[in-house]
Amino acid sequence: MPSPEMFTARDGTSFPLVPVPCCHYCSIPLGDSFGRWNICWRCNTRFRELARANPDEIRQSPYSFTRAVAAGLYITDYPEKGSAGRLIKELKTGGGHSTVLAEAIAHVLRTRCHGHSWDIIVPVPASSRKPPAPTEMLALELGTLINMRVAPVLELDSSYESGQGMPEARKFDNMKGNVRITEAGDVRGRRIMLVDDIMTTRGAAHWCSTVLLEAGATEVMVAVAGRSVDLRHLEFIGYSGPF
Ligand SMILES: [Zn+2]
Repeated sequence: MPSPEMFTARDGTSFPLVPVPCCHYCSIPLGDSFGRWNICWRCNTRFRELARANPDEIRQSPYSFTRAVAAGLYITDYPEKGSAGRLIKELKTGGGHSTVLAEAIAHVLRTRCHGHSWDIIVPVPASSRKPPAPTEMLALELGTLINMRVAPVLELDSSYESGQGMPEARKFDNMKGNVRITEAGDVRGRRIMLVDDIMTTRGAAHWCSTVLLEAGATEVMVAVAGRSVDLRHLEFIGYSGPF
């Protein structure tokens, strides 16, 4: 059964981290049947489909990023019911909490990502034109905490529309062709930590990573404040801890 671990920020705010085991590629918590493989059904299916389409290609990951880590859970059906979800929802609507959430991301990077290192932080671009974007605030706080430069080099086309309410399959490709790089020189030859507030379909992370790799980045890893998950999934994997 997945087990909870509590995180407490410097200001005393506390919430449970994503329970382990969780998927190496998308950080969704796993039940006993998938836990020992460290990969979820969806990522595994994508891996197999890609392998079938290109049998000669050796892939490290079913996405263009190599791994994703998340700090807390974002309960899609009731974000305000979860303690991390509430903070993330307020962050998204301009209500702060970027320091607490960045501290939690720094904590999971330190404790759950041994042997990984990065050169630069890049935030996932926001569809909102109102600066500062929540993901950029989160990235800047994280950069200060782990002493790493932040380069907001990705931007979205003005025609881009958020995928809220779209069917899951279409949502994955929603950012495809809509994201571009403004300063390729900042990422060329570098290992990137791509930062976002929430990971849902993995599509935003995948298409942003694709653009970064095309611009010459050597590797992209993803770090998010919240892993989106619905209550049915938590029930299915037998998680009964706090969220
Ligand atoms: Zn996964």
